Amino acid sequence: MSASSTTPAQTLDADAVRREVPILAREIYGKPLVYLDNAASTQKPRAVIDAVATFYETTNANIHRGVHRLSQEATDAFELARERMRAFLGAAQHEEIIFTRGTTESINLIAASYGHANVGAGDEILISHMEHHSNIVPWQLLCEQTGAKLVVAPITDDGDIDMDVLASLLGDRTKIVSVGHVSNALGTVNPVAEIGRLAHEVGAVFVVDGAQGAPHGAVDVRALGADFYACSGHKMYGPTGIGVLYGRRELLDAMPPYQGGGEMIRTVTFEKSTYAPVPAKFEAGTPNIAGGVGFGAAAVWLQSHGLEAIERHEADLLAYGTQRLAEIEGLRMIGTARRKAGVLSFVLDCAHPHDVGTILDREGVAVRTGHHCAQPVMERFGVPATSRASLGLYNTRADLDALVDALQQVREVFA
Ligand code: PLP
Repeated sequence: MSASSTTPAQTLDADAVRREVPILAREIYGKPLVYLDNAASTQKPRAVIDAVATFYETTNANIHRGVHRLSQEATDAFELARERMRAFLGAAQHEEIIFTRGTTESINLIAASYGHANVGAGDEILISHMEHHSNIVPWQLLCEQTGAKLVVAPITDDGDIDMDVLASLLGDRTKIVSVGHVSNALGTVNPVAEIGRLAHEVGAVFVVDGAQGAPHGAVDVRALGADFYACSGHKMYGPTGIGVLYGRRELLDAMPPYQGGGEMIRTVTFEKSTYAPVPAKFEAGTPNIAGGVGFGAAAVWLQSHGLEAIERHEADLLAYGTQRLAEIEGLRMIGTARRKAGVLSFVLDCAHPHDVGTILDREGVAVRTGHHCAQPVMERFGVPATSRASLGLYNTRADLDALVDALQQVREVFA
């Protein structure tokens, strides 16, 4: 995120963006929808909806193994999507882009394939205290299966990784370092390039959970020093059930397959099978073809609005929202890191987050309440759950005003 540009700064017209996203015209209980649950899943622009519909209407067929025209066109559409994701992430080669079901599957793929081939008893895998369960549990499973140890870098009261402690936890035994680009629970933007540098110094591979990074700013996996970078289509204004794992070519080439089946083989006999080169080696079975096409369209759509403009717009909203929420008596912000992306996670002294969410919903304001699949973070801050407003490029200051008005109503009911 946060690349600098020499061209004049592109500005983002959120009202125009909103007109491209049909669901935002909906009303909820007779009130205009105020959608502030983007960290869970984003709404889809017409460009993505049309790409998926057009694929099914004009091109649909299974890919890669057909000689007929439709199969070839479907293959071209899917491979174009791969190329679009390559360009979006700044990868060197399209073979480094593996389509998966999403971030969760991407991380499980790394743990199952790279992990089993390279991690053994006594080795260590380092994560941070703010990780999503998808970046904890696959490593725990790997540790249980191999005898490796999960090491957790602590976070400060503001929600920053304690970098001195992280550096001190790295050593010869560290085989994998895996951290989130942006925390879904706190909004912290982690210093991933710096963590990658430290990981490489001790010879570990560096995995970035980009689920919350890729939707909100320019990503360049090579500049970040990521050996692996995982992201999800549905968090990037694309379809559900599709995601990407970027992996550095030399690592992917050396890794064993993750799942066996069609597509991923070169030859099969009952005695032995040989495997296709990447990316096919990691894409067993028929993939989510239309999802891939929609994901590619989402990447192009995000680029058309300018990733730097999106980042600036969301930073402005974050600053505005932070200031406006400070007006609410008894509100405690969870996550006040130096660098944050558009996540406003908070608790109210007068009401449980679920009650807050329910009242906001009656006002048309969609936020998420709960532990956000990050229970260790909740425990770190001594709260069972938070209410979380999370921003996307189509949000406006008016959305945050609506949130604040609805929260004032919560106070009237409970305080
Ligand atoms: N990592 C982070 C930081 C997330 O926020 C999420 C989803 O909320 C995930 C991983 C998992 O993404 P998915 O459910 O799309 O696999």
